[in-house]
Amino acid sequence: MRANVTLEKITALAKRRGFIYPTSEIYGGLGSSYDYGPLGSELLRNIRDLWWRELIHKRTDMIGLDSQILLHPQTWVASGHVDEFNDPLVEDKVTHRRYRADFLLEDWLKKHPQPEQLSVEELDIDRIGELLVKFDIKSPEGNPITEPKKFNIMFETAIGTVTGEKNTLYLRGETAQGIFTNFKQVLDSTRLQLPFGIGQIGKSFRNEITTGQFIFRTLEFEQAEIEYFFDPEKTDWRTLFNNWQQTMWDFVVDHLGISHENLRWRRHTDKERSHYSQETYDLDYIFPFGFKELWGIAYRTDYDLKRHIQFSGRSLEYTDPRTGRNFIPHVIEPAAGINRFLLMVLCDAYREDSENQRTVLSLKPTLAPYKVAVFPLLKNRLELVEKAHSVFDALAGVLPSTWDERGNIGKRYYYQDEIGTPFCVTIDFQTLDDDSVTVRERDSMQQVRIGIGQLLSYLQQHLANG
Ligand code: ATP
Repeated sequence: MRANVTLEKITALAKRRGFIYPTSEIYGGLGSSYDYGPLGSELLRNIRDLWWRELIHKRTDMIGLDSQILLHPQTWVASGHVDEFNDPLVEDKVTHRRYRADFLLEDWLKKHPQPEQLSVEELDIDRIGELLVKFDIKSPEGNPITEPKKFNIMFETAIGTVTGEKNTLYLRGETAQGIFTNFKQVLDSTRLQLPFGIGQIGKSFRNEITTGQFIFRTLEFEQAEIEYFFDPEKTDWRTLFNNWQQTMWDFVVDHLGISHENLRWRRHTDKERSHYSQETYDLDYIFPFGFKELWGIAYRTDYDLKRHIQFSGRSLEYTDPRTGRNFIPHVIEPAAGINRFLLMVLCDAYREDSENQRTVLSLKPTLAPYKVAVFPLLKNRLELVEKAHSVFDALAGVLPSTWDERGNIGKRYYYQDEIGTPFCVTIDFQTLDDDSVTVRERDSMQQVRIGIGQLLSYLQQHLANG
């Protein structure tokens, strides 16, 4: 089952059924950009809502925030993004196509293993350049490539002020900085005491040099980030870090329904870690193209608040209410991508049931775009259609529901299985006699006959158990 999942199959299903479309397709598409169709937008929303419910609403130590995409440009100078947010770029000397030098090296090493263990993540740009020359690595088109140079992946834009001046702004490269710059305002406007966390979901932008991994790496994407602030003298960072790792793992396994054998933790080496971090782990998922980062966790110490104090001249300190001690809190950051969650969920839920000649998205009911589909057995029998509409109306106010009257029942099941709808309800001639309907479950394909009066509670109970 799992062995059959390829990125091609996921991409095709996502397009065919309206989860994900290439952006601006009528103009030939826009590289590394995708739109979310009717079902994809529901799935995204369900993932987002679940993250918010589990990690913010259900906890007394967490609150939410919604900061801007465009922040004061000094934010990004202070955070280090303007100077340090770089990827190594090479160009094909013939086609002028651009590639990530580290990815070219990594691909080459996979095909030509070396006696010395080379970990590409740990290499600086000079060493990557040296190895590209040493191994005579060419572009994917087989042409010579330029030396790697640093390419800043912040998107720049500009605003005109009333005086007509032009000011450079950046589309945010992460949501985290909007949390740091609001830290003091949150402290002053709430009754929170350390330790506590601020969570945010929103768009981030990176001018990624990338080639075809579908929605894994896109120019525009949605992040779900938490900055968890604490007093390093009172809270052991290692314990807190481990607790957050457990929370992340549990969220992915229990709430997104991912098989734990498809996940692993990977520790960043000292060389690989970002400039602000003292410890970083990635929670990796085995995508069809290998284990890749899904959710990172970093101990950012007091780096960001300190830098914002330095660049803004404002105090961003915390005063211990009991002792009166002033200090800069430290922070642990679990940072995830909602779109990568979505890609993982599609890959993990994808099943080919050859015995029954069907493809099934075995999504957790909480994630399924529709929880139930309602069918009149025949679309040209008014009494069936009317009865089915009354059932649909009763369900749709409570559960996301869909309607289908096209084709035969078999085709309708086939379609609903492919989009992950947990239950299908059919209204037939017996319904007109005894007010009962057929309920068919997606994974087991089992059918039961239920009275309309009990239908909603039956579905709710089974959806909650799923
Ligand atoms: P990568 O190493 O894959 O580039 P990163 O370490 O730069 O990711 P972070 O800065 O830690 O990523 O961002 C947090 C999360 O945001 C990542 O774990 C990932 O899920 C998501 N993310 C980052 N960049 C992208 C992107 N270009 N497209 C989609 N999601 C992204």
